[in-house]
Amino acid sequence: MRDSVESVARLHEVRAEITRAARDFGRDPAGITLVAVSKTFPAEAIEPVLEAGQRAFGENYVKEAKEKWPRLSERYPGVELHMIGPLQSNKARDAVRLFDAIHTVDRDSLAAALAKEIAREGRAPRLLVQVNTGEEPQKGGVMPAEADAFIAACREKHGLTIQGLMCIPPAEEPPSPHFALLAKIARRNGLNALSMGMSADFEAAIQLGATHVRVGSAIFGAREQA
Ligand SMILES: *Cc1c(COP(=O)(O)O)cnc(C)c1O
Repeated sequence: MRDSVESVARLHEVRAEITRAARDFGRDPAGITLVAVSKTFPAEAIEPVLEAGQRAFGENYVKEAKEKWPRLSERYPGVELHMIGPLQSNKARDAVRLFDAIHTVDRDSLAAALAKEIAREGRAPRLLVQVNTGEEPQKGGVMPAEADAFIAACREKHGLTIQGLMCIPPAEEPPSPHFALLAKIARRNGLNALSMGMSADFEAAIQLGATHVRVGSAIFGAREQA
């Protein structure tokens, strides 16, 4: 109970910070969607945040989302679910059924699987391409030098509509150069959505054009594991 009151207070604080950052940087706060990252938190921890009016949520695992969200979405109309974790091609069908947006399109086989399931299900989540701006081997995302060609292949070869780009900067580096690089790649590819910024750096992301900030621990508290 106490934890849930705290999460609602933190939600309001994060919203206020987003509005403040938007104003500071000459942007319309309405152009920034707060995606509340609820991975690893059970339904009981999410409900107070839903009660407080939050509707966009991010999850990293298809299985966890499938277990938690259908019942919550039924009770809280207007929920918008965002897939922000690595996606296996064999989970494409579940992902297309469950999610309203997928931020982690990053390879040809996944693009092909998503195109097939979108056609089959008659339902198209908004798609973002993940770019590995720090070129980290353990991280998902296309390399920056490959981004233009991959976006073109998504569009032309797979017939997908790509809305924007997503990145997760290296933990040990200042994030702003990564946000700036993502914005530059988006601009030259005519993409509007920029999913960037987490609990520690969403203000810097807003300064550089984020349209979606993905904030977990600043709302829900520390996770036991990432
Ligand atoms: C977990 C996660 C977040 C949220 O991170 P916090 O630091 O808790 O805000 C955002 N984006 C992605 C891709 C994540 O995996």
